[in-house]
Amino acid sequence: MRRTLSPSIAQHLVYGPVPSRRLGRSLGVDLVPLKTCTYDCVYCQLGRTTRKTVRRQRGADPDAVVAQVRDRLSSKPDVIALAGSGEPTLHAGIGAVIDGVKAITDVPVAVITNGSLISRPAVRRGLAAADIVLPSLDAPDEGLFQQVNRPHASLRLADVVAGMAAFRESYAGEIWLEVMLLASLTDPVPEVRALAELAARIAPDRIQLNTAVRPPAESFAAPVDKTTLEELAALFTPHAEVVVDLPASDGGGVAVAADVLELLSRRPCTVADIATGLAMHHGEALKAATALVNEGVADVYTHEGRSFYVVTTIAAPRREEEER
Ligand code: SF4
Repeated sequence: MRRTLSPSIAQHLVYGPVPSRRLGRSLGVDLVPLKTCTYDCVYCQLGRTTRKTVRRQRGADPDAVVAQVRDRLSSKPDVIALAGSGEPTLHAGIGAVIDGVKAITDVPVAVITNGSLISRPAVRRGLAAADIVLPSLDAPDEGLFQQVNRPHASLRLADVVAGMAAFRESYAGEIWLEVMLLASLTDPVPEVRALAELAARIAPDRIQLNTAVRPPAESFAAPVDKTTLEELAALFTPHAEVVVDLPASDGGGVAVAADVLELLSRRPCTVADIATGLAMHHGEALKAATALVNEGVADVYTHEGRSFYVVTTIAAPRREEEER
């Protein structure tokens, strides 16, 4: 029988640090409930979206979020990232959270967003104080936008791109645009050239190519091999970077099972991810993850030849689909 997360763990808004391929050791801040998003991306590592919406709401109290960040600063993260298990700009108080965190620490604040609401002036104002904003752009045209991102019915790719371009005009911080490429869907050269043209309109500081290295919501969301990604990177201006997995940590810390469980409740992780994110020995990470599987609160499964651990609440829908 599957067990669910205890309320005390589920209520934590701040988690990690987690190993981020793009940001280093990242202290995550989860502003919206699991899979509350404007998109339902076929490659999403958290499974299918359960609440697709464009309605911004005041969720967690910004002061409470900032207090939780303060409590975790001793973990010495490289960055504080507003991301987590849904689209963070759906939280109407995101600006107050960013301002509050900036007031207590010099650690850079990053926002990982799909960028779908950035056409709204209130969202652009909310993001203004962040040090880095990392929006995503995965499709070169409306058809592939619908196919890959499966957006809320009110969203159009042209508006999303125009919003990001408008944000570039007013925003003083860094914009790192993520482009997620999927094999046989968005990786043909003509599609990538068209994506590069859209990216040029946004004029980001960096462009980072990614692919579905973690277990996706839909099994047909296949990764692009690294050699192909390296070749496609040259089509972008500025030249895109291919983001790669962080090396495993040789840190000597021992994270408690609750920390590992909290990490696995945000996304599927390899043992190396757990070790890097929580600064623990590889062997200890394996031991902790295996114990959680044995307790029935986490699952382990193989994707593209690698073993991923994840809490059963995320793994369950994908498993059920496989069994159908
Ligand atoms: S990948 Fe991000 S934007 Fe896409 S559905 Fe998942 S949480 Fe939403």
